Amino acid sequence: MSDALAGPAESVLDGLDDEQRAAASTLAGPLCILAGAGTGKTRAITHRIAYGVRAGVYDPHRVLAVTFTARAAAEMRSRLTGLGAPGVQARTFHAAALRQLQYFWPMVVGGALPQILDYKVRLLAEAAKRLRITTDRASLRDFASEIEWAKVSTLTPEGYLAGAEDRETPAGADHQSFARLYQAYEDLKEDRHLMDFEDVLLFTAGMLESDERVAAQVQQQYRHFVVDEYQDVSPLQQRLLENWLGGREELCVVGDASQTIYSFTGATPDYLLSFRRRYPGAEVVRLVRDYRSTPEVVKLANILLADRRPGGQAAWPAPLQLISQRSSGPSPEISEHADDEAEAAGIAQKVAELSQTGTALREIAVLYRTNGQSQAFEQALATAGISYQLRGSERFFSRAEVREAIAALRTSSLISEDSGDTVAAAVRGVLSSIGWSPQAPSSTGAVRERWESLAALVGLAEQLDIERDEFTLREFVAELEERSAVQHAPTVEGVTLASLHSAKGLEWEAVFLAGLCEGLMPITFAQTQQELDEERRLLYVGITRAKTQLFLSSAAARHPGGRGRRKASRFVIPLRKELGLGAPARRIAPGQGVLSLNAAARRRKAAVCAGCGAVLTVGAQITRRRCEDCPPRYDEQLFEHLRSWRRSYAHQLQVRAFMVFSDATLELLAEHKPTTDAALLEIPGIGERKVEQHGEPLKAAIQAHLNPE
Ligand code: ATP
Ligand code: MG
Repeated sequence: MSDALAGPAESVLDGLDDEQRAAASTLAGPLCILAGAGTGKTRAITHRIAYGVRAGVYDPHRVLAVTFTARAAAEMRSRLTGLGAPGVQARTFHAAALRQLQYFWPMVVGGALPQILDYKVRLLAEAAKRLRITTDRASLRDFASEIEWAKVSTLTPEGYLAGAEDRETPAGADHQSFARLYQAYEDLKEDRHLMDFEDVLLFTAGMLESDERVAAQVQQQYRHFVVDEYQDVSPLQQRLLENWLGGREELCVVGDASQTIYSFTGATPDYLLSFRRRYPGAEVVRLVRDYRSTPEVVKLANILLADRRPGGQAAWPAPLQLISQRSSGPSPEISEHADDEAEAAGIAQKVAELSQTGTALREIAVLYRTNGQSQAFEQALATAGISYQLRGSERFFSRAEVREAIAALRTSSLISEDSGDTVAAAVRGVLSSIGWSPQAPSSTGAVRERWESLAALVGLAEQLDIERDEFTLREFVAELEERSAVQHAPTVEGVTLASLHSAKGLEWEAVFLAGLCEGLMPITFAQTQQELDEERRLLYVGITRAKTQLFLSSAAARHPGGRGRRKASRFVIPLRKELGLGAPARRIAPGQGVLSLNAAARRRKAAVCAGCGAVLTVGAQITRRRCEDCPPRYDEQLFEHLRSWRRSYAHQLQVRAFMVFSDATLELLAEHKPTTDAALLEIPGIGERKVEQHGEPLKAAIQAHLNPE
């Protein structure tokens, strides 16, 4: 191998620290990289593969890199291409298994591959009916999750009876009845020639175990295996991995036990932690330097883990302290709001500020515990005119609107003559015919998602117009088809809204962690110490996604006007202490925004009252630059006039008044009386979007007051 180390291959190792370099240049397995968040694990394995390929040690087509999400896989493929090692397979367990199944099924079983069943609930309802088991939507969902758990734990209905006595079965069913239901579901599925998500892995593993030809062919195909996020591997995935390896040891695994967040689905860090025992000759590399986050962010992450209760989960060894390699950044901020809507509006306002001061929207994420929380953020961002992407981009090309758009573009590319327009212009024209418009809709939900998808296609066309010479619509369609084949979604330019679970492995400049109250974080159903530990790790994953700016927030009540009964998350209390904040406020007046900023943030901002110079700490006072005691300097009549204008205008738009302009902004408007767009933009809280959306009616309202005739 020493020959291979010479020459340009080595340049791949530049930009790695000593430990990363040691890992990346250990090309023979078994190898285990154990390290905390942001220490460059993913970077190290990507460089290791690239180095192996460029050094001629790996045949790129014989390497299989397994990552956790399709998005991470796409990211790895593009990084490998960038590092001069294209052609390596980077997939999720599921995608890799499905490909093999599609290939071998006709040969081993014959006939068409069973169709994939997306949702278990309907089939399960039928199975329950046959068995005369009474169910409702909630119990069916719980039964479905339990079946998923059993399957990824490689337990058949019989195995469940024998091996899961300790588990509490869902919806009060006894083990026997549950096992019968599980069996009935499996039978029904087979009768209908369907397979569920877990079957894809089970069937593939089964084929590899039972058919030597299949095993030989797959083992011949793949020589080197790399698994990222190995702390969250399930017994079923592990079984598949072992079948792929077929006793060979060319395996590199990477993980962080403190980021185990899927044990509720049957995943376990045991395989990661016992790697050395299973492979006594394994090299183990540890990385401790955190390259992602500032010392301020890292400190909070360390405190959160240090505060965990000793004696919790045995398989969660004492976490390593992360050491930030970055220079100091802004202090994280903690804020409390009266209700969910106010919290979301506060976040949207901060996002707008970040965007105005130069942070790209794609570098901002709002993360939450349950998917149901997204609606409030969608609404607030849409009202503020800020684009966002709700879903991970992995299934972009499966979305109905994207398929429809590609079909329309294809037809157009076949019939249209070259009009001399740019491709982007042609794409805008075609997509207009299926409902795209240059202006984002102000509504949320499906309409907005559809628009975001189509806008992403327009954005991609614009980008490729710049990058490629003589680019044509036909080439664009070919590009889309190619990307669709590899699920390479264009990035949607916008803030990411994602659940904490789906954020693992990713990073953003600025991260908002919302809804940090008891009941949501930890979630109500986390009761045992192990479940609470997993919630803590989930928040740890959230905090460590932030590179520079971190905002933690919570709301006292769910609905505006509701009683503020929610308690601050127990996990946040030691973090508040660190940031110089006391106990969270007992009561928050409705409509009051950010109640407490930590001392450092206060010093940094040093917002002072224009009247007496006192340091301001309450959101609305900061915006209007005046403390409660100093007399207002604005025209009170104009202020009242604007308030009544806002009421009817907001009513007309069917949004809440404060989402148009806050009282603090109205006070500033009544003080400065702006009548041009340029003057409006001078008012804190008013950016280009606001001017675009409400500028004309607002100016008219001010004019009407100043010149009544
Ligand atoms: P996670 O546990 O969240 O998956 P990770 O350990 O996989 O994190 P990476 O995503 O590989 O970490 O790296 C985190 C960030 O630090 C990335 O932006 C990466 O490019 C950067 N980074 C890692 N190592 C170095 C290095 N040696 N020099 C400069 N930047 C680095
Ligand atoms: Mg990673």
